[in-house]
Amino acid sequence: MTYEDWSSVDRYITGLFVPPDPALDAAIEAMAAAGLPPHNVSPNEGKLLHLLARLRGARSILEIGTLGGYSTIWLARALPPDGRLITLEADPKHAEVARANIARAGLSGVVDLRLGPALATLPQLAAEGRGPFDLIFIDADKPSYPDYLAWALKLSRRGTLILADNVVMEGAVIDAASSDPIVRGIRRFNALLAAEPRVSAIAVQTVGRKGYDGFAMAIVTADP
Ligand code: SAH
Ligand code: MG
Repeated sequence: MTYEDWSSVDRYITGLFVPPDPALDAAIEAMAAAGLPPHNVSPNEGKLLHLLARLRGARSILEIGTLGGYSTIWLARALPPDGRLITLEADPKHAEVARANIARAGLSGVVDLRLGPALATLPQLAAEGRGPFDLIFIDADKPSYPDYLAWALKLSRRGTLILADNVVMEGAVIDAASSDPIVRGIRRFNALLAAEPRVSAIAVQTVGRKGYDGFAMAIVTADP
């Protein structure tokens, strides 16, 4: 199987299960027009995030890494009317595009976007007494994933669903000798997650128009 096959099947699945959506489609267009990198989850992965949030019955969600708010919209739409999503973004331009996309989706009242490096805004959230969250989606800079896992656990309780994107990276993740800080960050994250006694976790490989990657998911089994 080739990348072309994965992309074709991805389009087939999207065509069936993810009908055109004005707010989501406009978000992608606005990101491209503003020159943001196409690092958002695919439509299929967005729908998967949405379904996982609904399965979890999430009322409060934390997202680390907003970009243009594409995954944010998918996750926020899984919340009940009184639900809340906090999303963390370091880049002011990304945050500006995201705010407009979130507003266009009618979700400004649900989504709280915090601008700043996540390792600065996460302690602020803790100081404000935010959390524990029902679902935490980690998708920002990969070298910091080990730190984000520690924060995710701090902001969790028994039953919290922790998701982390991009944990396979075209298979690069199995290279134990890699000096790439991205690969090293993901490898460390996966090892910490696997060894963490307070969660039960797995990593899942994915293929599609975004190539070959994967995500990790963990359910918190004890009150951290
Ligand atoms: N979750 C998004 C994609 C996020 S891409 C989606 O699927 O639609 C990763 C984002 O993390 C980028 O916007 C990048 O600017 C942001 N980022 C990188 N380093 C960061 C940091 N230290 N703190 C917060 N955000 C960061
Ligand atoms: Mg990602």
